[in-house]
Amino acid sequence: MSATLAPTASARRVLRLIPGMPTQDGAGVRLTRLIGTPMLGDLDPFLMLDEFGTDRPQDYIAGFPDHPHRGFETVTYMIDGRMRHKDNQGNEGVLVPGAVQWMTAGRGLVHSEMPEQQEGRMRGFQLWINLPARDKMTAPKYQEYAPEALPVVEAAPGARVKLIAGSLLGAEGPIVQPATDPVYFDLDLAPGAALSLPVPVGHAAFLYVYEGGLDVLAAAGRQRLARSQLAVLGEGGELVVKGGSEATRAILVAGRPLREPVARYGPFVMNTREELMQAFVDYQEGRFV
Ligand code: MN
Repeated sequence: MSATLAPTASARRVLRLIPGMPTQDGAGVRLTRLIGTPMLGDLDPFLMLDEFGTDRPQDYIAGFPDHPHRGFETVTYMIDGRMRHKDNQGNEGVLVPGAVQWMTAGRGLVHSEMPEQQEGRMRGFQLWINLPARDKMTAPKYQEYAPEALPVVEAAPGARVKLIAGSLLGAEGPIVQPATDPVYFDLDLAPGAALSLPVPVGHAAFLYVYEGGLDVLAAAGRQRLARSQLAVLGEGGELVVKGGSEATRAILVAGRPLREPVARYGPFVMNTREELMQAFVDYQEGRFV
């Protein structure tokens, strides 16, 4: 690893900086929405990104009672707090701090996501990733990993990278999803730590800073990202970042665009309006089993 980290011509630059939008979902959980807003409707294949982060039980205690999903994947990454999930097909579990659940909703399931705590901090992310037409009606599936199952790579001095999906320096995140070939890294940077991360050429990619702040270094110059800002990244084969004066945490997420028509409403994401209507009918007639 080079100590100077001069960005090459293939280093991705920041195309857009997106602030979060405060919103509520579920039974009144307070969230910050980063993708799926008027400012950034989607970033193919990413449909939505929510950050939940609060010390106040009244912001999260109502949780997400029973609701359906069809046609895409939800990825829940817990940082603090505990969340119990339970679906109508007999799957149940508790996500603990540092755990990830990659749920392929496929043809459909009904589940609840409820806090497994009465007080304390609840913090994490839920990302929605689209599925290609050929996989939308696949059987539901979970890839769920405890914190100790996620490799952490010291990628440069003071730069630790937790791998949920994608590979780095010979280590590999456990998630498998050939359709979108995702990268999902959680970066933990000491003040001033710098590193280069590979990002597949052609993938859509974003970086979201949730503690501290950092600079994105590209041939065109450097761009500062403050806490709670999401950067939509330009094209290229790597991302070069340098931590600011505080300890910094950020997620880097990338995926292969599907370039298919999207027909979405609430928890259903299909390709056509007819398929969307069918999803409503199937759900109402109890066929999400
Ligand atoms: Mn859900």
